[in-house]
Amino acid sequence: MALKFQPGSSMTSETVTMEQTHYDCIVIGAGIEGSATCYQLTKKGVKTLLIEQFKLGHDRGSSHGQSRITRHAYLQKHYAMMMPECFETWARLEQEVGTKLYRNVGLLSVNGPPYEDYNNRGGALKDMNKPYELLTVQQVCQRWPGFSFQPEMKAFVDPSGGVLRADRCLKALQTMFVKQGGIVREEERVLQILPGKHVTIITNKGRYTAKSVVLTPGSWAPQLLRPLGLDPPLKITRIKVCYWPEKQPGMFSNYPCFYFLSEKYEAYGLPSAEYPGLVKVCNHKGQDLTNPEDRNNEQFTEDIDKLKEFIKEHVPGLVPEPAIIENCIYTTTPNEEIILDRHPDHPNIIVGCGFSGHGFKLAPVVGKILSELATGEKPSYDQLPLRLKSLNQTVAKL
Ligand SMILES: Cc1cc2nc3c(=O)[nH]c(=O)nc-3n(C[C@H](O)[C@H](O)[C@H](O)COP(=O)(O)OP(=O)(O)OC[C@H]3O[C@@H](n4cnc5c(N)ncnc54)[C@H](O)[C@@H]3O)c2cc1C
Repeated sequence: MALKFQPGSSMTSETVTMEQTHYDCIVIGAGIEGSATCYQLTKKGVKTLLIEQFKLGHDRGSSHGQSRITRHAYLQKHYAMMMPECFETWARLEQEVGTKLYRNVGLLSVNGPPYEDYNNRGGALKDMNKPYELLTVQQVCQRWPGFSFQPEMKAFVDPSGGVLRADRCLKALQTMFVKQGGIVREEERVLQILPGKHVTIITNKGRYTAKSVVLTPGSWAPQLLRPLGLDPPLKITRIKVCYWPEKQPGMFSNYPCFYFLSEKYEAYGLPSAEYPGLVKVCNHKGQDLTNPEDRNNEQFTEDIDKLKEFIKEHVPGLVPEPAIIENCIYTTTPNEEIILDRHPDHPNIIVGCGFSGHGFKLAPVVGKILSELATGEKPSYDQLPLRLKSLNQTVAKL
């Protein structure tokens, strides 16, 4: 007996037979991390199903919007080591789909005393033999007069950094996944995961089984992990994505991305692109939520007030009043390390979560590691410090 997909419920127009309720792997969550995992799995010929609770490309999680920063300059060495392969894979994907995914504008990093970030990020570039440029803040402000920094600040430029076109990246991974034989079920919510030699997945529309399952549910992770006996310390934070008008139209269109860290502020920005004349500048800190569904609750404005101060003080080329405000969600671990691991008791259930506001650029390698864990291969990168077992946060056993 054949089941036809509901119109609009899949990226494929293929007919799905009853036998196709069993897969080699099922990935839950079609954000950037789940989509990259699916891309890597089907590249290896693994029969994969991707299940997403909303429509593909929705704006209720963490992977929507048009832009994300990428760079080689990473504070932690284990992520810095992944970056060359991330850049290569994004470039290969660009070729595969024939769409430009990356704009190389450089990354300017500005840091106040005690310069830990400057030393570590700059040090990572040095260790990897990647080019970088040290600048005084006077040189920074001469080159990009829209900025203003105190003389004691230190700055460097990572010339390899720039903007990933986020919505195109997500679409490209999903398109390639389907082209490589993957199946997508969108607007279908996973309600229950039953461990076993073959894992059973129960959704609001059906029941599937697979040899392994990868959970990439973003900020909905607690809802899926707790019934499996896991409760890693994840904080869900609403980030206000603010777009600020240029005082002089076009001034910031060829500026680098920037990351600023001092005792008072932690903020980042990208050159104007998605909305002409508007520059995206955000706080790295936001408002804690208990449920991702509360992201549109508007009572909290402290984060925007703080950004207004930051713009007045350090980006005088922008009007200190945002013209557009959007919402996005971080899912953060206590030390901002990401979790990529097997379930300690069920090794065919794989978890990828806690991307802590820096996971987009890493998605190609995250997808590779999660696909390796799902197929029982040795992970190509095994230096990640955050292990589910070590978190010691299990809840009552099943
Ligand atoms: C404002 C902002 C700026 C950022 N800037 C950068 C940056 O410059 N550089 C960078 O590298 N990173 C950046 N990030 C971080 C990056 O975007 C995230 O780390 C990444 O998008 C996380 O992706 P994800 O796939 O884990 O989560 P999501 O995109 O949220 O995907 C999870 C998916 O799982 C689905 N799901 C959950 N539960 C179920 C269920 N029960 N059944 C079916 N589906 C389910 C959800 O609907 C969702 O689509 C930023 C994030 C934000 C919010």
